Amino acid sequence: MKLELDSVLASGIAYGKIQKINNDDSSFEIAADELGNFNNAVTKSIAQIDLMLNQNDDIKDYLIALKLMISDAKLLDAVRVKIRNGSTAFHSIKEVMDEYKNALLNSDSSYLKERVADLSDVEGRLLSNLGNKNNDVLNDKYIIYSDSLLPTFLITNKANILGVIAKNGGYTSHSAILCRSWNIPFVVVKNDIDATDAIINTYNNLLILNPKKNEIDKCKLEISKNENNLLEIVDHPNFLFLANVGTNHDLKQVIDLGFDGIGLYRTEMIFMRSTRPLSYEEQLSIYLEACHTLKDKPICFRTFDVGDDKKIKYLKTNKKGIDNYLNNTEIFENQIKALCMANVYNNVRIMFPMIENESEFHFLKEWVRKISKELRTNMPKIGMMLETKKALDNIESFIDADFISIGTNDLTHELYKIDRDNALDNYDNYLKDLLYKIKNVVKFCNKNSIYLSVCGELAGVSKTALALYKLGIKNLSVSPSAIKALNMSYKKYINMKTKL
Ligand code: PEP
Ligand code: MG
Repeated sequence: MKLELDSVLASGIAYGKIQKINNDDSSFEIAADELGNFNNAVTKSIAQIDLMLNQNDDIKDYLIALKLMISDAKLLDAVRVKIRNGSTAFHSIKEVMDEYKNALLNSDSSYLKERVADLSDVEGRLLSNLGNKNNDVLNDKYIIYSDSLLPTFLITNKANILGVIAKNGGYTSHSAILCRSWNIPFVVVKNDIDATDAIINTYNNLLILNPKKNEIDKCKLEISKNENNLLEIVDHPNFLFLANVGTNHDLKQVIDLGFDGIGLYRTEMIFMRSTRPLSYEEQLSIYLEACHTLKDKPICFRTFDVGDDKKIKYLKTNKKGIDNYLNNTEIFENQIKALCMANVYNNVRIMFPMIENESEFHFLKEWVRKISKELRTNMPKIGMMLETKKALDNIESFIDADFISIGTNDLTHELYKIDRDNALDNYDNYLKDLLYKIKNVVKFCNKNSIYLSVCGELAGVSKTALALYKLGIKNLSVSPSAIKALNMSYKKYINMKTKL
């Protein structure tokens, strides 16, 4: 039986036996000491996360956040009170976690809403540690079938997971991001599934349940071809494949995967890791390290993009946009000084986020020019993100920009009022209109020789990347894990052109 995929969260092909994982297993036994059982489950959960932390440096931040949640005194006390009042540990955990999840779901912040999945991870771990059954560890290789995939389950079992079929999941969830970076195909299928084995093939958008021998043989052949091609970097003389990064830890991947440079360095990520403003010297050493590592390749540093959901304790923020620089002058100037001084290889680009009109852009550009002149540095190229409706409507006025990078995450949020975390899952609803609007930008940039790229998530999805190529956008900046999709889109594009 063949089923169409409802969405693809990580591309790939897989064949294997299906293992159903129930995160919401309500079969539990009442223990003699429910409170003691709960306390043991907490200790065991923390020990498991510590073990994961030792083995998974790449997702340290997520695991530390999880550990903080699972050790949160208020949360643990709330569960203990319920147990003391006669409720089972199982139900007490569920009730308290539901209260926390509802509070997050009722907030206006998409960032906080996304944390619901993290709470489910905490809940799943505590519940599975209540009993002695160990449904957390796979002892063979499987395709996982679950309502939703919990990140720590994935982390614990990554070597034994061939692919994932889930009923729910979003492109920006932690599980989806991990699957993409570990090359584990992850698909969402809303229909109920009842099968012993399956083939997932995201390239033809199909899930084959209980496949026939010839289908399995064909799939195995494709998998072996795919494995050999995994890191093949396609020749792309007319395009730049750029990376989106948030820390210098990502630089090795950028080099290893053959990227042409960095199209978006989210510098606020550096700020978020610190509890106080970083000094000019501290920033300089970070930016210089990046410039030394990439040398002949461009690095586009976006000045710290904060406000709305992205708050940093030591910054005065309100909405996203230029006010954040006017309200935090010293911190902004230190960042610009450090970026100018780091421009020893002439590969620094400075990009301003959330620009709405030409005078904002001009003001910031002149601010940088003044600092660069005082410090007698190479003046970096100065550009802007195109991610507000106002800027899109007035594109013709940005004649002074050295480059423009389209931020589809914020732009689609503003244009189509979709939660930016769900934008990728719904692109069929707005892609045509968005491409129509972007076409003007391409024309304007071509006419004025302004270097144009896209750095929003749409650039890293096979189908939308291809649509952007076709529109004439030659530079795509994506998270390193999306390079496969980018290579594939480009190959398709070349094949299509040669067939014409
Ligand atoms: C965007 O808005 O598309 C973008 C790349 O910026 P961020 O996701 O950091 O807001
Ligand atoms: Mg943005």
